[in-house]
Amino acid sequence: MTQPLFNRMALIGVGLIGSSIARAARAQGVVRSIVATARSGPTRARVAELGIADRVVDTNAAAVDGADLVILCIPVGQCGAVAAEIAPRLAPGAIISDVGSVKAAVVKDVAPHLPGHVHFVPAHPVAGTENSGPDAGFPELFIDRWCILTPPEGTDPAATDKLATFWSAIGANVETMTPEHHDLVLAITSHLPHLIAYTIVGTADELGQVTRSEVLKFSAGGFRDFTRIAASDPTMWRDIFLANRDAVLEMLGTFGEDLATLTRAIRRGDGDTLFDLFTRTRAIRRGIVQIGQDSDAPDFGRPHQRKLPPLPRPYMADGE
Ligand code: NAP
Repeated sequence: MTQPLFNRMALIGVGLIGSSIARAARAQGVVRSIVATARSGPTRARVAELGIADRVVDTNAAAVDGADLVILCIPVGQCGAVAAEIAPRLAPGAIISDVGSVKAAVVKDVAPHLPGHVHFVPAHPVAGTENSGPDAGFPELFIDRWCILTPPEGTDPAATDKLATFWSAIGANVETMTPEHHDLVLAITSHLPHLIAYTIVGTADELGQVTRSEVLKFSAGGFRDFTRIAASDPTMWRDIFLANRDAVLEMLGTFGEDLATLTRAIRRGDGDTLFDLFTRTRAIRRGIVQIGQDSDAPDFGRPHQRKLPPLPRPYMADGE
């Protein structure tokens, strides 16, 4: 017989990410049992109905009782208050993690509340869709996606390794970096693109000369991909921009300069500048497809027919 990696996993928040973790962890048998909770009664009831956790409890504090892995799957702005709520009930030796899209702010908000007898290993699975809630999750979400771990200085490396094994078991590739570096990288690869999508969709919505029906009708000309990104959860994205303000502002500064260069090129009829940039960006896109981070299918996104990987050894230790 084999033993799961963790005995009891507590999920605080069971939306897209939490419910995908629950489904994947159960499919892979990496946890013996799953206890879940969410802020509202209707979400908790839906999680119970879906049967993706072994037990659904009413409070965050009750969820962490006896758990050796606790994952906060909630908007980043909530993490500090929830850490304070659960801290007195955390079991000695437990690994506490999160899935927040911003890391330095989460470390700053959460770490001060945690008792010395637990291991704090923040994480960010770089995977998602524009949908929210427990029905939106699926077990293959993390396959071939990166999960970035940002353990604060002094974290026990064994705890980081154990969490890395967990994420590998549910399909992710794992990388470790500092919270600050994570925030800078994600500001350009994720946060700025979302801000641009929100802006473009907002601008199109306000255009007087183009009707809303025309925008919808001809949306396949590039606009549709932006609308998908701009449909992302408003609470989550508000929190991300507030929590990663400095890195986003730094990237926006550079972006503004580059946009001004393109604006000037268009105004001056400088085709060479436009052509050179578009040639470089096309090569970047090809590189992304080549390393499997997106599909070259005509529509946006990668195909969903992937399967969870065979369980990596040696995390399954022999048991009785
Ligand atoms: P979601 O689908 O909106 O789910 C959020 C969950 O958190 C809900 O179950 C919500 O419960 C619960 N919640 C909120 N505040 C809470 C509190 N104070 N106590 C207990 N539960 C609480 O969000 P998500 O997309 O899974 O995102 C969760 C986290 O993952 C965010 O930090 C986000 O930055 C990160 N992330 C998201 C993506 C993505 O693409 N979506 C990708 C990577 C990382 P109710 O339903 O009852 O309100």
